[in-house]
Amino acid sequence: MIDESKNKRTPDNLIQELKQKIDDFLGFAPIGIYQASDEGRFVMANPEMAWMLGYESPNALIQQMTDIASQMFETNEVAEQFFFHLFEAEQVIAFRCKLKKKNGTSFWSSSYAKRAFNSEGRPDGFYGFAMDISRNIRMEEELQEANAQLVRIATLDGLTQISNRRKFDDYLSSEWKRASRDKHPISLILCDIDFFKPYNDNYGHQGGDDTLCQVAKCIEKNCRRPADLAARYGGEEFVVVLPETDSDGAVQVAENLRVAVRNLEIPHAYSKVHTCVTISLGVSTITPKLQESPATLIQKADSALYQAKKLGRDRVLACQS
Ligand code: GH3
Ligand code: MG
Ligand code: MG
Repeated sequence: MIDESKNKRTPDNLIQELKQKIDDFLGFAPIGIYQASDEGRFVMANPEMAWMLGYESPNALIQQMTDIASQMFETNEVAEQFFFHLFEAEQVIAFRCKLKKKNGTSFWSSSYAKRAFNSEGRPDGFYGFAMDISRNIRMEEELQEANAQLVRIATLDGLTQISNRRKFDDYLSSEWKRASRDKHPISLILCDIDFFKPYNDNYGHQGGDDTLCQVAKCIEKNCRRPADLAARYGGEEFVVVLPETDSDGAVQVAENLRVAVRNLEIPHAYSKVHTCVTISLGVSTITPKLQESPATLIQKADSALYQAKKLGRDRVLACQS
């Protein structure tokens, strides 16, 4: 005979069954779930909420954390922000902040909370969810660092470690537009190492590379204003962009560069102008008009450089326009 009473679903049984399901659900949830009172204590918490905050069980959390604001948030400011949102907007969405564990260490969390109301519609504590996002934050930081590293690599010349041609092109283009808008002069210096082919041929490629690095660093160091940009233009040629600089100022900078490179006193027995490495420099200055291209500035500096070479090297020549 079948015992019918065993399968009878009384209201008590149903409640018990439901409670068991909710407990299973809360116990399995990989995020912290809680309910709190207006006095700042937990009324209910699932195991993940307790473990996340460093307590051995939900009961331990409920008993030992007597003031959520001061015990759960890393700082008072963060607690104030959280409760300000909760009381003003009645909810907190994806609130990123550092929470404190029982042992005092902290971790990044993403918190959600909502104001609760009783059956008469009066505010009655709040409930919420919290997730430990320390791993995500670490990954975001690593990604940002990797991106910054990529940007550095993409804009630096591999050999000399000063800005490369790509950085120069971008920088000249944006500074050219700015000069055009502000009606300011912009200057360019093209520098070329004198008799570098015989240097390379006689001192070897490695020696040539070392000298390129020294000259590059020297040019970069002697471009002093924050807006000045020194870059490797190609081979043994360097370029300097000088925003908001007139012709006299640019010639002065170029002359300083010429002297600074000579003062490095890198021996060059195969140069026809000096006993050490020297550079020739061409300077151009333009106050750009709309529609004019920065290529004009480069062409003018290039022809000034050509003249400086023709007149004997180891000198500065400015384009007259
Ligand atoms: P000028 O005085 O007229 O400037 O003559 P130059 O010999 O300096 O110029 P040229 O254009 O004839 O030769 C440039 C040489 O620069 C060619 C090459 O030997 C050297 N060079 C270019 N790029 C590199 C580089 O990356 N490393 C090394 N070691 N040498 C380079
Ligand atoms: Mg050259
Ligand atoms: Mg040269």
